[in-house]
This record gives sequence, C-alpha cells and structure tokens, in this order.
Amino acid sequence: MSALEASAAAAAVRRPHPVHSGPVVDLPTKFGVFRVQAWTDGITGVEHLAVSWPVPNTSGAAPLVRLHSECLTGDVFGSYRCDCGEQLDYALDVISRCGGTLLYLRGQEGRGIGLANKIKAYALQEAGLDTVEANEHLGLPVDARCYNAAAQILMEMGLREIRLLSNNPDKQERLSRAGLAVIDMVPTEVPYRDQNIRYLKTKRERMDHRLNLDAEPASQDVLASNGAGSGRQA
Ligand SMILES: [Zn+2]
Repeated sequence: MSALEASAAAAAVRRPHPVHSGPVVDLPTKFGVFRVQAWTDGITGVEHLAVSWPVPNTSGAAPLVRLHSECLTGDVFGSYRCDCGEQLDYALDVISRCGGTLLYLRGQEGRGIGLANKIKAYALQEAGLDTVEANEHLGLPVDARCYNAAAQILMEMGLREIRLLSNNPDKQERLSRAGLAVIDMVPTEVPYRDQNIRYLKTKRERMDHRLNLDAEPASQDVLASNGAGSGRQA
C-alpha cells in the first residue's frame, strides 16, 4: 500500500477532530508579512495559530508545513537549553522564502508535560539526568503530544499532501495515521550549541530524531534549492 493509499485508508476510518477557525489577518514580522489564523481545539479548548506565507510555492512541490510545539523558554526568551527558538526562526525564514505554513501548537510545552513540569525536568537535568530520564523520573510521558487537532486544522486548510519541515519521524507517522499524506520530510537542523548538545544528542539517540549534529547543518540545502527539491536528508 502506498503512502497516499495508506493515508486515504486512515482518513476513511478516523473521526474528525473538531476545530474552529477565525478570520485571516496580516502579521507583519521581520521575515515579511504572513497571513495568520487562530484555530481552537473543540475538545481541549487550546488555541493554536496557523502562520502562512501568502504566496504559494509555484514549483509544483507539495507545500512545506512545520508543526511547532510551543516552548515559552525557547521561543520567547531565546533559551539555549533547547533549539526551539532557533528552529522557529529558521522555519519562518524558510517558509518566507519557499512558501508554506507553520502551525504553532500551544499546550505542547515540554513535549506536552506543561511549563511547570518542564522546569522540574530541567532541575533533574541539572542533577545529571537526560531529558528522557527526567520525564520518566517525574512519572510523566516522554512525549505526551497529540497531533489530531493539528491534522484536522491542516486538512481544513486544504493541506492534505505536505512536505513536513521536521527531524522527528514520529510526527510524520502520527500525521499519516491521522489521514495526511506526508510525502517528504525536509530537515530543519540548526547549529547546535554547547548548552544544548547533550539535549540534542539525547533526541537523536533515544527519540530517533534525524539530527546530524555537524558543524554545517544539512538544512542549508533547503534554502539553497529554494525549497523546490526534496531536501531529503541522507
Ligand atoms: Zn524548547
């Protein structure tokens, strides 16, 4: 069964996850003027934001989509404990050049354990545990995120066949199960830092993230090709 057939089969059996949208407005940023739309999860009440480049990609390739999990410390305060803030900037930069949509998923702090628990996990990491061990020590899931609302939002936006800007094969798998056709994974690796290299190595070695952790990130290829190529990571 091909990926497209598998996603069609999954869509046939899945129940739609209720989401509600509001108006689309301009959002001028340092990357350019995006079009944004708020979406509310009809089950949890969590509000998400779709950030789209207004000019579609004319290369014929499926649109780029980034699912960005909220990270207050990384996104707002620019923390180097993780790479979220730099990943957010990188994704918005790529989307402003190549077209696409970034879906900013709130309620996914600390891979879904919440801000206070994430800080508790940081305390355990300062005592020597890695990011996986810290969650386990707290009796919390290593990854509690759910992508059903995200998949529904993308479908209602008409984004059923996408190239996913991510290093996380679990996201691809879960979106596919939710009925989306993820036809490619475009790497989104930013240079590591001394402060986050252990965290990133743990994501690569224990969570199967496709990270090279080389001095020259593979993702530069995406910009060089203006997103028209597959950008598939070796
Ligand atoms: Zn983060």
